This record gives sequence, structure tokens and C-alpha cells, in this order.
Amino acid sequence: KVPVTRLLRRPAAIIGTPDQARHPNIRLPRDLYRPQRTNSRGIEFGDRSALNKLLSDVAASKPVINEIADMSPETASDIVAAARAGFKAWSATAGKTRAEILEKAAALLEQRTAHFIALLQSEGGKTLDDALSEVREAADFCRYYAAEGRKLFGGIEEMPGPTGESNALRLRGRGVFIAISPWNFPLAIFSGQVTAALMAGNTVVAKPAEQTPLIGAEAVRLLHEAGIPSSALHLAQGDGRIGAALTAHPDIAGVVFTGSTEVARSINRTLAAKDGPIVPLIAETGGINAMIVDATALPEQVADDVVTSAFRSAGQRCSALRLLFIQDDVADRMIEMISGAANELKIGDVRDPSVHVGPVIDAEAKQRLDAHIARMKKQARVHFAGQAPEGNYVAPHIFELSDADQLTEEVFGPILHVVRYPADGLARVLQSIERSGYGLTLGIHSRIDDTIEDVIDRLSVGNIYVNRNMIGAVVGVQPFGGHGLSGTGPKAGGPHYLTRFAAEQTVTVNT
Ligand code: GLU
Repeated sequence: KVPVTRLLRRPAAIIGTPDQARHPNIRLPRDLYRPQRTNSRGIEFGDRSALNKLLSDVAASKPVINEIADMSPETASDIVAAARAGFKAWSATAGKTRAEILEKAAALLEQRTAHFIALLQSEGGKTLDDALSEVREAADFCRYYAAEGRKLFGGIEEMPGPTGESNALRLRGRGVFIAISPWNFPLAIFSGQVTAALMAGNTVVAKPAEQTPLIGAEAVRLLHEAGIPSSALHLAQGDGRIGAALTAHPDIAGVVFTGSTEVARSINRTLAAKDGPIVPLIAETGGINAMIVDATALPEQVADDVVTSAFRSAGQRCSALRLLFIQDDVADRMIEMISGAANELKIGDVRDPSVHVGPVIDAEAKQRLDAHIARMKKQARVHFAGQAPEGNYVAPHIFELSDADQLTEEVFGPILHVVRYPADGLARVLQSIERSGYGLTLGIHSRIDDTIEDVIDRLSVGNIYVNRNMIGAVVGVQPFGGHGLSGTGPKAGGPHYLTRFAAEQTVTVNT
């Protein structure tokens, strides 16, 4: 048990949906009937009664934890000490056993899908569709890291060689990992970070985003219930001061962080300023993600993919489309179709399952986005301005810029910026994408193979999507993460992720 001074107690913030999800008038949204592209071990939306059952379970669900206790920064030492104390036993636990616990956690997440959907809606403002995908993604992370972990941590690897000795390589935990996760995927990214670090044999201090503490707390509860010892996984609630105190601690062995580039830099500086061992940082940050649409693209498909990429999840994904380059011959028609598709989006309370765009995360985010919209209204051409209801809602907007360099930072919301380029101007488009320094996601809509290949070869971007939307990377299928200002790698949900959490040990025995 960690001695934690309770600094302050606060009610968990509820945005968008003031009480737990209740659905007075359930209307069945069209797009829920599409089969999920992602794994569909959960509920098949082709089955109407399964959807109705899910909705009523969501409506009946109540959070188990109602109050959040923030940690005091002064107690960072206590919590790191407790995690250190748990390291010996957890790192000695067989990889197979660790994997079994993660598989159990995946099963529990699936059993409690409705419960987590309710939490993701009430605390995270997620639409039904987004919330369901997120629960599935969290379960996918648990299973994927368990499967990879079985291979990597299943025992020692004999190394072949001419030395006449026995040579073996094995992976082991490094120590205490600090996991700092974002509010935009408070269950999936939280679970991904924590389960990877645990699978690799580390103990973990997990700090959920201050905006989504309940989901973090319930996820930790579930992992403990699945069998992660409480000495191996510790929860630290609070704001950036808690993260700063934890990362500054001399006894930590690694940090995994998802969030802004600015905070990643500050963590990096904190780690670099410490004496003692050099502590690795695994950071996944933002991007000014672009999509390139040339004159050969299919307009209907472009409209659908642009709207999904830019506005789904209210644009609050780090993979979301921010900057759309359209070849000028087709630009007017494309922009008209995209605006028409954007106009079909329903914005509002996520308790209505037909809503496509829910609230942004908090009043501060709304203020920032509204200020950007006001600025764009002066500096850019307005193609589309949606209507938002009262509350923390920001309606989708489409602005046309005369130059891509007018967009200098990631705007984390449902705001799309369009730039036209001439038929011979692709090279300049690529230069401008490179100049941003980011490299997270990129979309290309074209029917010309050479163009597609050139773009892929030229740009250092982590996830490239051709002739489809550019969000919703699937765990184990589309490993996710960027280059340059967008992150350090390795890719989450990919085969190289776990090794970065581990220390390698070579044992050579003269036989
Ligand atoms: N993995 C998510 C996706 O592909 C984005 C993760 C994030 O926003 O941090 O859409």
C-alpha cells in the first residue's frame, strides 16, 4: 500500500453528458451497421438486437469509482519506492504468466464493454462508435502484447556462433516505468502503455490524463483484478506537476509518454538533467498531418475519407487530418463535396447514438479552438462553418489557406485546412510537408502508382494511408507512431514495441 498524501479531492469531471448515459430516444445510426474493419470479436452491428442490448447495458452502467484523489507531488518518492519494491517479484514472474494475466485483462475488458463505453462517453465525451472501437483497441493491445511477450520473454534465445562457448540472449525488465497517457484515448493508449511495460517485466507508475482520471482508475482496477499484483502497478492521479515529479525521480528506469511534442521535450530535458543512468523515453506526440489529393482521385471516396479523417472524434486524434492538399483542377468540386459531407454530420450529446461529433474535451480546449477559428475567419477563405450546440462543442470548419506555411502548429479539433496545388506542384507540396518537421500520418488519394511511390519514398512519415481514411490504426496490423517531431518510436501495436521496454542480457559460458 502506497502512502499517498491526499492533496485534494475533486469530483470526476463529467463533460458533455452530465449524468450517466441514458438514451431516451434511441435512433440507430446508419454507420453502425457497417461491419467493423477492425477485429469484431465484440458485438456485430449487423445484429440489431445486439446493438439494442449494448445500448441498454450502457444506459444501466454506473462507474464503480466516483471520486478521484490526486497525488501530492511530494509523494512521488513514496510511489516510486513502492514500485521499486515490487520489481524483484514481478520481473521474476514467468513471461508466460504475465501474458496470461494480460489475456485475462482483455477478456474482462470485453465482458465490461458496456461499462467502459459509458465511462468513455461520460468522462471522455466519446460517441458510441468511438467508445466501442476504443474498448476493442484496449483489449487488442492486451492480447497483442501478451502474444508478442510470449515469444520475447518466453525464455533465453540461444545465439549461434563460432566461439565454442554457449551464448544466450535474454530480455528482462528494466525497473520502474512511468506511463503518462493522454485524455483522447484514455482507455486504449493507457492500457497499451501500461501492459507493454508490464509484459516486459517492469513495474509501472501510471499517470492518466487529469481530464480522464476515472477511466484510468477503473482500468487499473481491472488490471489488478486480472492478476497484476498491486505492487507492480501503481496509479498516480493529478496534473502535469505529478508527471514532472515522477519523471524527475532518480530511481526510475524509463518513461513512456503520449501527448504533445512540447511536453515530450520537457520530459526529455528532465531526464537528461539527472545524474545516474541514462533513462530512455518512448514518446508519441502530435503532427500536422496532411493528405494529398490529385486529379485522378475518386471524389466520393475522398469526401468520405476526408470527413472521417478530419472530423471523427471531433478531430481529437493525433492521427487526424489537418492539412488537405488538393490539385487545383479538381479543387472546387472536391471542396464542395467535402463540405456537403461535413454538413451531414450530427453534432451534439453523445448519448444520442446517431451523433457523429461529440464535445471537445474541456472548456479550455474549446476556447483555444474557437480562437483559432476566429483567426482563420480573418486570414483564410471559409468554405464550411458548422453549427455547434451550447456547451463544449466545436463544429467542423473548413478553411482554405493560400499557403500551407500559414498553419504552424497542430490544431487539435475538427478544423480542416485546405491548400490548392498546381498539376506540376507536387514537389513543393512534399517540401512543405517536410518543412513542418512532423511525420505522423499521411494520406494520399491518387490512381497513379508512380505518384504514390514517390510520395512514400520521399517522406519520412510513420503511417501512410493510400486511397482510404487516415485514422484508426489497428493493433498488430498497422503499427502506429511517427518520426521527427511526432515521436521517438518504436511503434505502438507493432512487433518492436516491447523490446524497447526491456534490457537485454547476453550470457556467455565457456563450456
Ligand atoms: N492510434 C490512433 C489512430 O490511429 C491515434 C492515437 C492518438 O490520437 O494518439 O487514430
